[in-house]
Amino acid sequence: MDCGLFQGPKTLKALNYAAFPFTPGGIDFVLLTHAHTDHCGLLPKLIKAGFSHAVLATNGTRDLLEFTLPDSGYVQEMEVETLNRRNVRRGIPAVDPIYTRADAEASLKQIQPHPYGEWIDCGRGIRARYWNAGHILGSASIEVEIPDGPPPHPPLRVLFSGDIGPRHKSFHPDPTGPTACDYLIVESTYGDRDRIECDAAGRRAQLREEVKAALARGGNLLIPAFAVERTQELLLDLAILVAAGELPKMPIFLDSPLAIKATQVFLAHARELEDLGDIGNPFSAPNLHLMQTVEQSKSINRINGGAIIMAGSGMCDAGRIRHHLKQNLWRHDATVLFVGYQAPGTLGNLLLSGVRSVRIQGEEVSVRATLRSIDSYSGHADRKGLIEWVQARLPVARAIFLTHGEPAATISLRDGLAAAGCNPEQIVIPGLDDSFTLSTSRPTKIEGTVGRLPGGQPPQTDWHNRYAAMSLDLRRRLDSLPDDSAREELIARINRLLPRA
Ligand SMILES: [Zn+2]
Repeated sequence: MDCGLFQGPKTLKALNYAAFPFTPGGIDFVLLTHAHTDHCGLLPKLIKAGFSHAVLATNGTRDLLEFTLPDSGYVQEMEVETLNRRNVRRGIPAVDPIYTRADAEASLKQIQPHPYGEWIDCGRGIRARYWNAGHILGSASIEVEIPDGPPPHPPLRVLFSGDIGPRHKSFHPDPTGPTACDYLIVESTYGDRDRIECDAAGRRAQLREEVKAALARGGNLLIPAFAVERTQELLLDLAILVAAGELPKMPIFLDSPLAIKATQVFLAHARELEDLGDIGNPFSAPNLHLMQTVEQSKSINRINGGAIIMAGSGMCDAGRIRHHLKQNLWRHDATVLFVGYQAPGTLGNLLLSGVRSVRIQGEEVSVRATLRSIDSYSGHADRKGLIEWVQARLPVARAIFLTHGEPAATISLRDGLAAAGCNPEQIVIPGLDDSFTLSTSRPTKIEGTVGRLPGGQPPQTDWHNRYAAMSLDLRRRLDSLPDDSAREELIARINRLLPRA
């Protein structure tokens, strides 16, 4: 089930380069829940390491992976190229990318697409069925039936949640799934977060106010865009607001080849998606300009105000948004609107933390633009949504495993489920690389397996994060001092504290 790329602190990301803790050649099939990198980003590595059978996914997931997986391979190649340039200078041997664009393209051949709701024969008497999880296009919870003794003994029924979407999500129905399984394996990403419930109209009203305020400032509105799903949600809401006369027909530049490709997948699946067709096609509005080439992207530089520029990446770490930030951040009349999570250590996070200048493409850029953020666009169910999803799946015969969350989120969800009437003794929080036997009446932990991380828990932050926070804090303190001699004095004091090298 899934084969994601580790994201987060460097200690965790290092696992992407290490060997799998199992034999890839011994796996019969892979079931994918959805196209996000943290769920399928190591698939090309798995195939390179010897997995040679089918990868089962929904049609939507397959269509998205056709370009997101090769793009991920390209990102791996670029990251390693930068790292190796640094390593050569330090006399450290060069490393190979986790996988290349070519590896990713080759791995696509093993993907077998299937519609929702249809039983898929996986071999050895095992069958699987996809349910709409309402998280992103193609996302699914997967029900798996595994023979548990000779007939007429009933099969073991396991439901893997994948990532669960929120209520009132554009394009997708509320998440659904079967009841009365033996096991639930449930994600807990936002298990400790309670959002104020916001329906589509409320979300659009918020966006409308942000866009109106940005236009009133006179400059451009930059939206760092996540290519899949968030971009299309915004395009839909902007089109609805323009059609209703609540916003003017301002030019919208979608300056991201990846987001343009994702938008084409949405168009290809328009008939299965909700909200499309109410106002005509929101992805071909006359004021929407799709910028494919670098020349087209650069031509936006001539526009000083009144336009919406959506460009990747969503956290401003790479991509064309960086060059638009360089062009606009120093302007008093410009606005940057963040519409998604900004991970610590990213340029987006740095900007939201309130720094007065940033380095982009080797240049120091002053931050004078207005920075705004809205969090009503979310692809994830919050704590209440996750609890409701589990309640709708009850009864559960044997156990509920809580996975895919930081410890605080997982523990908060466990407490919430217990308070909502689930038997706390049935709830299991596994550590990374833990193994369990499921055929027993209660899950039995297999002792003696050695995990890849000491303590079994992935670190939430490591010294790299603390170093980044410390240098940011130092920079802020230096900025706030009255003059250069005070800055020299502070640096001299810190130097005196450091042990002599
Ligand atoms: Zn996801």
